[in-house]
Amino acid sequence: MKQLLWIGILIIAAGFEAAGANRKVTITFVPQENKPEWVTAAEEYNVIWTAEADHVIDGLERVSHLHFPEDKVKAEIYEGASFSGGGNRPMLLRASYPMEIKKATLVHELGHRMNAQLRKRPADLDEHRLFPVPIRRVDGFVRAGVCRS
Ligand SMILES: [Zn+2]
Repeated sequence: MKQLLWIGILIIAAGFEAAGANRKVTITFVPQENKPEWVTAAEEYNVIWTAEADHVIDGLERVSHLHFPEDKVKAEIYEGASFSGGGNRPMLLRASYPMEIKKATLVHELGHRMNAQLRKRPADLDEHRLFPVPIRRVDGFVRAGVCRS
């Protein structure tokens, strides 16, 4: 009987492992206005996400020991401070960043969405302190008004 229990646990664990490995997070990048530079920026964010989605989500989950809480995210591209959004609010991403800053900002804002599921945290905690160091490096942009989260 004990053997059957362990076999059952292993099968269930393997099922979760397989489900986690195949899970996708889809982000739809939409320019807020039909400005050519915003349309191009939305395409660039999409190129980044197509290449990096699994790597980014896996990294966020591994480092935080949390499960990314969403399967679909809407991101609007405009010219302003980036914002993680959440609930019914879309993520907002600046159009004019170079590609590497677009990637860093996207990961940063996804980090905010990941942290949104934490229910217990000190009221005076700067959420950016919860981010792993590579994501926290974007904090200089927070002070510069890049991230308004
Ligand atoms: Zn931030």
